[in-house]
Amino acid sequence: PAAPAAQPQRPTLLPDVKFIVAVASGKGGVGKSTVATNLAVALAGQGLKVGLLDADVFGPSGPRMMGLAGRPEITAERKLVPPVNHGVKVMSIGFLVPDNEAVVWRGPMVMGALEQMMKDVAWGALDILVVDMPPGTGDAQLTMAQRVPLAGAVIVSTPQDVALLDARKGIAMFKKVAVPILGLIENMSYFSCPACGHRTDIFAHGGARHEAETIGAPFLGEIPIETAVRVAGDSGSPIVAANPESSVAGLYRDMAAKL
Ligand code: ADP
Repeated sequence: PAAPAAQPQRPTLLPDVKFIVAVASGKGGVGKSTVATNLAVALAGQGLKVGLLDADVFGPSGPRMMGLAGRPEITAERKLVPPVNHGVKVMSIGFLVPDNEAVVWRGPMVMGALEQMMKDVAWGALDILVVDMPPGTGDAQLTMAQRVPLAGAVIVSTPQDVALLDARKGIAMFKKVAVPILGLIENMSYFSCPACGHRTDIFAHGGARHEAETIGAPFLGEIPIETAVRVAGDSGSPIVAANPESSVAGLYRDMAAKL
C-alpha cells in the first residue's frame, strides 16, 4: 500500500508556553478584559511566569488597563519585546496603533496580526498565557480558537439574559473546536451600596452559576460591580495590584487559584 501522504506540519505556536487560557465573552462590555487583567496579575502573584495577549484587536484595552504605553522594543532577532507591568508580560495591538486611530481590517489581516503577536513576540518561557479574546463568535474568534493551542477557555458573562444567551454561543464555539470550558465567571453580579450596604442585583443574579450547572462546567465565582474595580482598571493598575487587601481582589485570586 502507498505510504500515507505527509501531513503539512504547521509550526506549533508558542512552544515555550505551558498553558494557554482564553478569556472570552459572547458580547462586549461585560468585563472580559477586566477579568483577564486581574486573573493575569493574580496568577503572577502565585509566582507563575505570566503573559497577557490582548487579542481584542478592534478594542485593545490591555495597555491602558495594565498601565503600559509606548512602542515595544525589538530584539536582534526582530522580535517584539513584551512590556512588563504588575509582573505580567503584555502584548497588544494597542502598542502598535495610535490610540486615536481605528483598526479597519478584514478577517485575514486580523488573523495575521494575532499570529504575529504569538510568533513574533519574545514571550520567553511562560507558565501561563492569558488571551483576552475579541468578543463574539465570528470568524476571527473561531480561527483563534482553532489555531492557538488553547488549554481551555474561561467565559465571562453578566447575569443578564441577553449576555448569557451570547455566552452560550461562545461556549458552543469552543465546544465545536474541542476546547474545554475551564469555567464561567459572573461579572457585575450584584451591587452593594458602599454607604448603606443595601444590595441591588442590577443585571439580575445567579444566571452564570445556573448556566455552568446546566452545561456541567465549573463555576469560578462572581464579581460585584464596584467603583474601585473600574477606577483601578482605568488607572492602569488592576484592583488585584492596586488594592490587594480588598475583598474583590480576593475573589479574583480565588478564581485564579481554580484554573
Ligand atoms: P469587555 O472586555 O468585556 O469589553 P471591560 O473589561 O472593558 O469589558 O469592562 C467594561 C467597563 O466596565 C470598563 O470600564 C470596566 O472598568 C468596567 N467594569 C468591568 N467589570 C467591572 C466591575 N466588576 N465593577 C465595575 N466596573 C467594571
